[in-house]
Amino acid sequence: MLHEMLARLAKEFVYARGKPFADNELGNFVRNDIATEAKKQLIYLPFTLTVKASVGAGVWAAVPWLGFFDPLITKSATTGFYIVYLINPQTEDIYLSLNQGTTQVYQEFGEKRGREVLKRRAQDMAFRIPEYSKKFENAPIDLGSIASLPSGYMAGHSFGRKYKARAIDEALFYEDLQNMIYAYEALIDRGGSTPTDIMQEESGTKNIEETRRYALSRRIERSENVRKEVLKVTAPICQGCGLDPAIHYDYQGKLQHTPLDIHHSKPISGLAEGETRRYKVPDDFLVLCPTCHRMIHKQENTADLDRLRQTIKFSYRVN
Ligand SMILES: [Zn+2]
Ligand SMILES: [Zn+2]
Repeated sequence: MLHEMLARLAKEFVYARGKPFADNELGNFVRNDIATEAKKQLIYLPFTLTVKASVGAGVWAAVPWLGFFDPLITKSATTGFYIVYLINPQTEDIYLSLNQGTTQVYQEFGEKRGREVLKRRAQDMAFRIPEYSKKFENAPIDLGSIASLPSGYMAGHSFGRKYKARAIDEALFYEDLQNMIYAYEALIDRGGSTPTDIMQEESGTKNIEETRRYALSRRIERSENVRKEVLKVTAPICQGCGLDPAIHYDYQGKLQHTPLDIHHSKPISGLAEGETRRYKVPDDFLVLCPTCHRMIHKQENTADLDRLRQTIKFSYRVN
C-alpha cells in the first residue's frame, strides 16, 4: 500500500543516504515500486496524471518526493503547480502538498524574492479553491533543510497534510489523496495561478465562468501533448480554408512547430467542473490556421466547421 511504502522511505532514507547513490536498493524501490503503487491510486479517477518519484538525480536529494502532474500544467516538479508528497527524513514526517515549481520563479526574481512570490501564489491558489483547501491544513511545512530546493518547496506549499511515518491514519491518508486530486483539477479548471485580470484580458469577457472556460480551452489548445497527439492523426492543413504551410509558405520545419493552431471545438461548458476528462483526441479538435482559428471563435457555435467554410471568400494561389 502506498502509505506503507512512503513510511518505509521516510524511515530508511537517512540510512540509505549514507551509502553510494548508484544502484541503491531504496532508490530503485522509490523510482519503480512507489511510482507504480501511486499510479494504482488513479485507476478509478477520471483524470490522467503523470506520476514520478525521486530520491535525487545522480546524487541523493535532501528531500525525496513523489509527484502527481497534470500534463496540461506541467510534466515535472520544476515548473507549474502539482501534487507532491515531500519527506523530511530527520523527523520522518510525510507531507502531502499542493506545491509549485521554483525554477522559473527563481530565474526571474532570484531565490530570496522568488520565495516571496511563491508564498503569495501559494495563498492565491488556496483562495481559488476554498471548498477544497479548507479540508486541509495550511500551516507551513518543515523539510529540515535550508538548501535551495527544499526552501522552494516550503515557500511554494499551498495547503496539505502532515503524517507521522510511524502513525499514519490509513483512511485519512487515502481520503486526503482523493480530495487533493479533485482540488488540483478544480484549480486547473479555474485558471491555476494565473491572475483573473490576465485571463479576462484574453477572453474579452468579464463573466468569471466564461473567462475560466475560455482560459481552460486555450490551455488545452496550446498544450504540447495535445498538439502532438492531434497532429499525429490529422494532416497539417487548415481544415477551414485549406491553407497548407508546406505549399503556401514553403514551411519545412518540424510538424510539432507548424504555424497552424489546434482548436478545441468541444465547448467546455458542456462539461461539469472536475467531473470527467476534459477532451478526447482527436475527436474534439480541429487543425486551423491562425486566421480561421480567430474567426471560428467569433462564431456562436465554435464547433461549426461548415459555417466557417461557408464564410470564406478567398482561395489560395497555387503556382
Ligand atoms: Zn484557415
Ligand atoms: Zn480555439
